[in-house]
Amino acid sequence: MTSDSNSKINGQNADHVLIVGGGVIGAACAYYLAKEGRLVTIIDRGEFGKACSHGNCGFISPSHMLPLCRSGAISKTLKSFFDPDSPFRVKPSLNPSLLKWLWQFTRRCNHRDMMSGGKARHSLLQSSSTLYRQLIADGELKGCEWEEQGQLFVFETESEFANFKSTAELIDTEFGVKSTQYDTDQLIAMEPALKPGLAGAFYFEDDSHLRPDRLLSAWKDRLTQNGVEILEQCTLKKFICENGKARAVMTSQGEIAADAFVVATGAWSPFWNKALGCKLPIQPGKGLSITMPKPDTCPKYPMILQECQVGVTPFASGYRLGSTMEFTGYDEKINRRRLSLLSKGAKRFLIDPVAEPVEEEWYGFRPMSCDGVPIIDRSPAMKNVMIAAGHNMLGVSMSPATGKLITEIINGTKPHIDPSPYLVSRF
Ligand SMILES: Cc1cc2nc3c(=O)[nH]c(=O)nc-3n(C[C@H](O)[C@H](O)[C@H](O)COP(=O)(O)OP(=O)(O)OC[C@H]3O[C@@H](n4cnc5c(N)ncnc54)[C@H](O)[C@@H]3O)c2cc1C
Repeated sequence: MTSDSNSKINGQNADHVLIVGGGVIGAACAYYLAKEGRLVTIIDRGEFGKACSHGNCGFISPSHMLPLCRSGAISKTLKSFFDPDSPFRVKPSLNPSLLKWLWQFTRRCNHRDMMSGGKARHSLLQSSSTLYRQLIADGELKGCEWEEQGQLFVFETESEFANFKSTAELIDTEFGVKSTQYDTDQLIAMEPALKPGLAGAFYFEDDSHLRPDRLLSAWKDRLTQNGVEILEQCTLKKFICENGKARAVMTSQGEIAADAFVVATGAWSPFWNKALGCKLPIQPGKGLSITMPKPDTCPKYPMILQECQVGVTPFASGYRLGSTMEFTGYDEKINRRRLSLLSKGAKRFLIDPVAEPVEEEWYGFRPMSCDGVPIIDRSPAMKNVMIAAGHNMLGVSMSPATGKLITEIINGTKPHIDPSPYLVSRF
């Protein structure tokens, strides 16, 4: 198959952009590119929206600007080697890319790097939050179950609750993101689905949530209506280059020519390091979720149960527990013991933590960059190939701004946020 790279839209010549990867990042890139009059094709080696973007918690979290690499993260990692029930797990391994990633992560566990990562994430999160509200107001993402309910960070123990106070202050003073503190009794009045006796919570009212699988269905409908071609079961095999540019890609369905390309292959992006001419420090951070009907006493607010790091999302059409972070390579098996940590953790906090029947048990590979910041940049080897990867635990939250920024870079227009923190040359 050879696509005409000068196809016409509304009678005008429109450059053709081929996006590799039909996750939430590829979808948002396709939307903004098509809106600017580009002819867009998405290829995915599986089904559109069925990888990491499918079963995640669906939080849109401007509150989460601070990256994982911060002081104290190293001792947590070391403890995880010895605690099989830790939500965070690194499988001891001699895999050189994992060892290098751990070293790069460890070097950044300090206040200065945490703050610079925080600023980079904050820009994408704030912009995305505004863009989502616009998309919803314009009726572009119908049926994604968008709700502006904020998010609760719930603490079981007084010590962790007290520790978080300084973080909440920092988030407020440095980033202007406000939260309200609720002590034990106030918390129960606010969220009766929580058990009595918990230490308290911080409420971030500007957070929102949606149902990720429905978001991807909404994107698919919208993109198709906007003329975007989506080719499933179509695997990128190689780039075909001429004079420092890609002319086409060879795929499992044949050759496809285009004028520009976007690599939005999530956790699989490092497989393209050689072709892209850079070393993307991205590891798959495996997470799990369980989706079920709403329990009888269903939480009103989405929440993160802090001591067990379980995310709880009440959707209009269901209920999800999600969490855990395993660095065990691309191991596709669901470990039952680790899956059970979700309901075990939820039982400590919620009156009615689970419901029957389970609709889906799911895993996804988060694209974890070593500094917690995405890579949104041109390939050093092929100047018409863009990289949009490494969105860590926040790909849903950061996708609209990523799509808009990619579009601006390809179009050569003024970027709406400073693109410099996302350059691949920072590594
Ligand atoms: C348990 C869990 C909870 C989470 N909760 C949240 C949350 O609440 N909020 C939030 O913002 N984020 C959350 N995340 C993170 C979020 O899910 C990811 O950051 C996001 O889905 C990454 O999107 P992506 O498009 O980069 O990758 P993906 O969705 O993985 O898409 C990449 C696509 O590339 C395709 N691909 C790969 N290689 C090729 C190839 N060679 N040829 C063609 N196609 C290819 C894949 O098939 C895949 O469809 C969570 C993740 C997990 C695991």
